Amino acid sequence: MNKEKTSNHIDNEGFYGEFGGAFIPEMLHPNIEELKSSYINIIEAEEFQKEFKELLRNYVGRPTPIYHAKRLSEHYQTQIFLKREDLCHTGAHKINNALGQILLAQKLNKTRIIAETGAGQHGVATATACALMGMKCVVYMGAVDVERQAPNVARMKMLGAEVIPVESGSKTLKDATNEAIRDWITNPRDTHYIIGSVVGPHPYPDLVARLQSVISEEIMSQMPEEPSHIIACVGGGSNAIGAFYHFLDKEQVELIGVEAAGKGIHSNETAATLTLGNTGVLHASMTTLLQTKDGQVIEPHSISAGLDYPGIGPQHAHLHQNKRVKYVSATDDEAVKAAFLLTQKEGIIPALESAHAFAYLEQQKWKSTDRVLINLSGRGDKDLSTYTKYNPY
Ligand SMILES: *Cc1c(COP(=O)(O)O)cnc(C)c1O
Repeated sequence: MNKEKTSNHIDNEGFYGEFGGAFIPEMLHPNIEELKSSYINIIEAEEFQKEFKELLRNYVGRPTPIYHAKRLSEHYQTQIFLKREDLCHTGAHKINNALGQILLAQKLNKTRIIAETGAGQHGVATATACALMGMKCVVYMGAVDVERQAPNVARMKMLGAEVIPVESGSKTLKDATNEAIRDWITNPRDTHYIIGSVVGPHPYPDLVARLQSVISEEIMSQMPEEPSHIIACVGGGSNAIGAFYHFLDKEQVELIGVEAAGKGIHSNETAATLTLGNTGVLHASMTTLLQTKDGQVIEPHSISAGLDYPGIGPQHAHLHQNKRVKYVSATDDEAVKAAFLLTQKEGIIPALESAHAFAYLEQQKWKSTDRVLINLSGRGDKDLSTYTKYNPY
């Protein structure tokens, strides 16, 4: 690429520079074509926007506040603000996407919803949206994850979803995603597949980014004085894109994505995709992923199940390449320490995923005049047993 600056957004073919696209089997074409040709018209229509905004306001509890964290600011000798996605109904940003996509599914006359889930957060958000709309819900989840995320499995079942344990491969998120895609091929007419992050074939990365962009839309109107930095954790990358979206073309705002380094970049137990990965196709998208020389996907590791993914959304791969966003990583230890610090300074227990964003505060020298906005993507109730077992002090 020899252009000095490349666009930060999607092009007409569904690519971000060399990343993105839809590398799908023939049998998935009708589903993807239907979605591709209709998603923008549907979600930009006045009726959709009215319904979506109303749900976000009265059901999710948006706009989520921006909180000036005074004691944490004092600790780091700078000004720190938190975007409180942890206060959303169901405890994280994922509900924004699930509700947007279920409205889209209704406009496409779909009656059955499928989803993949790792930690169970996206499964819970999707099962919640389905209960709300009275739609049938099937969630694919790796058998290992079903085992270690029992409370979320119970929540999904109480919400009326059918949870199908996936026994193939490593029995985790990547295998659940493969299984969901297989289901969709078999049931193209009545089923919509709600992907949980800015990953998968075009148009999903752009669709999910647009639905999550409500986060940065709110930040713009809630912070009349612009932030100098916006920090978000990156798994697939949906809360980060949501927080960055309306700032991508404002070069004066520094954007930072924090990946999970797991036990360390050089430990072989890591999920730092952009730091260590290279280009390839994962889940029908050209992106950056952790793979061996002969193209086998490497099993990632992170203490936080929501960041434990071997790929990353193609828009992030592009924003890494054109350097608009700075990508860094934080280890399990650093994340847990940051979570304890936030909890004891501010009385807010973050999700383990979000704790990675806070860990970056330790890695940079801050100026007293900086205005650092951290996207607090979710709450930590689900992670209490990990926190108590792992207490680094
Ligand atoms: C799922 C999850 C993430 C990771 O997903 P992204 O698509 O990268 O946002 C981050 N934080 C929380 C609280 C989550 O539940």
